Amino acid sequence: MSEFDFIVVGGGPGGCVTASRLTEDPGCSVALLEAGPDWRGWLADNTALSMLKHAPRKSSNNWGFNTLPDPGLNNRSDFHSLGRGLGGGTSFNALVYMRGHRGDYDEWAALGNPGWSYADVLPYFRKLENNQTFRDEYHGNDGPMWVEDLRTDNPYHDVVKQACREAGEPIIADFNGATQVGCGSVQATMKNGERWHTGKAYIHPYLGTRQNLQLMCETHCTRVLFEGRRAVGVEVIQGGQRRVLRARREVIVCGGGILSAKLLLLSGVGPGAELQAMGIPVVHESPAVGRYLHDHPAVTLAYHIPGDPNLMGISPTGALALLRAIRRWRKERRGMGATNFGELSGYFCLKPDSPRPEIQCQFVIGVALDHGRDVYAKHGMSVVAILLRPGSRGSVRLASTDALADPLVDFSYFSHPDDLPTMVAGLRRIAGIMQTPTMSRRIKRDLLTAHCKTDEDWAEFARDRAGTVYHPVGSCRMGADPSDAVVDARLRVHGLQGLRVIDSSIMPRIIGGNTMAPTIMIAEKGADMLRQDSKGTA
Ligand SMILES: Cc1cc2nc3c(=O)[nH]c(=O)nc-3n(C[C@H](O)[C@H](O)[C@H](O)COP(=O)(O)OP(=O)(O)OC[C@H]3O[C@@H](n4cnc5c(N)ncnc54)[C@H](O)[C@@H]3O)c2cc1C
Repeated sequence: MSEFDFIVVGGGPGGCVTASRLTEDPGCSVALLEAGPDWRGWLADNTALSMLKHAPRKSSNNWGFNTLPDPGLNNRSDFHSLGRGLGGGTSFNALVYMRGHRGDYDEWAALGNPGWSYADVLPYFRKLENNQTFRDEYHGNDGPMWVEDLRTDNPYHDVVKQACREAGEPIIADFNGATQVGCGSVQATMKNGERWHTGKAYIHPYLGTRQNLQLMCETHCTRVLFEGRRAVGVEVIQGGQRRVLRARREVIVCGGGILSAKLLLLSGVGPGAELQAMGIPVVHESPAVGRYLHDHPAVTLAYHIPGDPNLMGISPTGALALLRAIRRWRKERRGMGATNFGELSGYFCLKPDSPRPEIQCQFVIGVALDHGRDVYAKHGMSVVAILLRPGSRGSVRLASTDALADPLVDFSYFSHPDDLPTMVAGLRRIAGIMQTPTMSRRIKRDLLTAHCKTDEDWAEFARDRAGTVYHPVGSCRMGADPSDAVVDARLRVHGLQGLRVIDSSIMPRIIGGNTMAPTIMIAEKGADMLRQDSKGTA
């Protein structure tokens, strides 16, 4: 079959949710195209091993770009992992389930996006969620995304919480409830101790049972095809051959925070002069495509804590603990083998009158640096400091007209004057937790920041160490003004027909928290809008 009602490009959270919800209507056919594989098996089910296998390097499951040398990072380029395969980022991410602050969504609405306030989006968060712990007005208990407490049984949670108390930080049980500020254990998108990615939740149950859903993995979409200003299909490479698939109603681009913009540019939708200079015929001038890319910059602190079997590391203790952990996980789906590494988190308001936290931290139960690529022969823990609302903006551009080439990705970290000072204040606040009696008793050595005394020392450390926490957004941002935004509040590409973007790239400003849950929410809402808007067009 090469003609469908809807063609959904990209099998990450945006695409899985959209394709799944659309095919609830048996009268509507959908092709879900994914460049990577549908990876299965016990390694894919294990949270920790799937991440260790794929996150640190480019592979068939990871697009893995190097960003452009960045002046804000002392001209370093950063390795940027990006999921490739059914589930997208959720096939090897850290599974931390966070929605961000309610004020983030109210801000989206105030920027001119009706329907996106917290009150508007909360029903979609509830719809997607099957929370195993919380039953209240903030949570859903029968959605496709299983959300549970970690099953690691790790006594280190009590140690970290005690340290946070000593530092004067409140302890919080639910980061997705009435308030967000404080420290506590995270919830994760896991089902009975296994990774629960969006492909498993939204697509696997319907393969073979919904005749109107066609999943095409290892199918790379090279461009969207237009007749006039209407999207009518896509060109793909499948098994080394180029093919055309036609869409009767709409093409929905769900390529994620970086690759949706790349696909629009390849298709002739973007800044006209830039496209012409590359010899790409301009279908539609849309200056905002690829602009406004941003991410949460993150800086990792690391501590040597020898001999503790509840932490991980390259050490005899660590190797033994890991072997035991995998054995226990295969039997019981519990214990350290069910870790997502970032087991606890914290949100900090740096000023007494801050309306929303400026900094998040992720407590990691091992020493993991440079995206797990810097293997440190030390047993201990790390803490990742994350700047929640950066002002810096970068870009996604084409390196070449070859659809298979990596794009040019530039985050311009710390180019906004407020970003580095806020990061420094956050690092100092987090370092304070690690200097409490509970932590100093355990820490043998501060591995990276013992020399940091002044703000300038901390700033230089941040420039030397900062990098992505894998939350690229904004490159197809939503907004009312077509000269400054790519999609409107119903996620339709401004100025064209039959084309939407439904994924993390549409966020007008990054939310203050991890981006998976918000992206699933965006797709739940996007699918609803698609169904409403296409009534009568069948
Ligand atoms: C290592 C890592 C850890 C993370 N940890 C967390 C976490 O703990 N909590 C959290 O909330 N978030 C986390 N994230 C972020 C989260 O996974 C993303 O926000 C989320 O996956 C974004 O979903 P998306 O649908 O926008 O894009 P993606 O997940 O990137 O999915 C896009 C999909 O489209 C496919 N695609 C792109 N272009 C094409 C094309 N031309 N043809 C065919 N297919 C195409 C890609 O292969 C990919 O599968 C992490 C991400 C990574 C990489």
